[in-house]
Amino acid sequence: MRKVTYPHLGTFSLAFEGLLAGLGLDVVPPPPITKKTIDLGVLHAPEFACFPLKICLGNFIEALEAGADTIVMAGGTGPCRFGFYGVVQREILLDLGYNFEMLVLEPPQGQIKPVLDKAKALCGKCSIGQALRALHTFWRKTKALDCLHAQSLVVRAREARQGTTSKAYAQGLSLLKAARTPGEVQKSLREALALLAEVPQDHKKDILKIGLVGEVYMLLEPYANLQVEEILGEMGVEVKRAVYLSDWIKEHVFLSSLYLPGGRSVKKAAAPYLEHFVGGHGRESLGETVRFAREGFDGVIHILPFTCTPEIVAQSILPEVSRREGIPYLSIPLDEQSGEAGFITRLEAFVDLLHQRRRRKDKSIS
Ligand code: SF4
Repeated sequence: MRKVTYPHLGTFSLAFEGLLAGLGLDVVPPPPITKKTIDLGVLHAPEFACFPLKICLGNFIEALEAGADTIVMAGGTGPCRFGFYGVVQREILLDLGYNFEMLVLEPPQGQIKPVLDKAKALCGKCSIGQALRALHTFWRKTKALDCLHAQSLVVRAREARQGTTSKAYAQGLSLLKAARTPGEVQKSLREALALLAEVPQDHKKDILKIGLVGEVYMLLEPYANLQVEEILGEMGVEVKRAVYLSDWIKEHVFLSSLYLPGGRSVKKAAAPYLEHFVGGHGRESLGETVRFAREGFDGVIHILPFTCTPEIVAQSILPEVSRREGIPYLSIPLDEQSGEAGFITRLEAFVDLLHQRRRRKDKSIS
């Protein structure tokens, strides 16, 4: 039987591991991302490759060393480099002497047959009924993980004792990871939300609201973004992440299968500043910044990997968006060289600035 692995992508890995197991496959999850993972990716990837490519490459090397023989990877379409990830990683791993098969799942773009063919090649003897049940549970679990995550961001900003939300959230994730059916997912989600609701809160805190925009991998993978949500939450900031994987799947898999466009409202919000698709989430970063400004958020943090073309385009337009929409922003490029201490200092300075701005605003109103 195949021993299947995949790259880490925040909590999505929990749902994807469950999907592969539900399809009757022998799953070899990549070990949790550590400095060793990054070092392996950096050592073997081209120097100017995107940071996410390097991390995923490190995941694959560690998983192949742990016994995996099949890699499942997402594909993409231009104009950014994501579409080449799978091909480049496969060549690097072959050069390193690994013996494996790689299945790259491309977005359907109206053609569902190639996706189904690849799924069939992966699943082998799995019945249609079993595949549908596994997919149903996977979808419910992905949505439940996103729901729990969004709620943890609200609770963490108000926690009375630092770390209590993160502890309750980790327990909630374990409950959801163990769920095997859609019914169990719903039950685990209720229990996990109840754990968050029990976290003691301080309702007198002056809570800032910050929107998080940027490249999708960097937003979803806490190791890559240096735990930005947790750090801000523990500073008393309610963070709202612009992208969740359930939204991404809806747009890039479900709607794309029917050749339907997704994300109309965010594209409309971005249109006065950028009308064209520039790859990745560049246009969405601008559109989401506009929406956060109009929803009364105090600021926006833009996270991007160094050398990420779509987000560099967004970064160059953000000053204009910030000026016209009246929202402060902080743009932070990250890669393997980024240090935590400097990162936290920049976040603290930005949060201070937003508090001052709010006090000035309050004074001018009273
Ligand atoms: S969006 Fe940026 S980081 Fe992601 S693949 Fe494209 S260029 Fe690389």
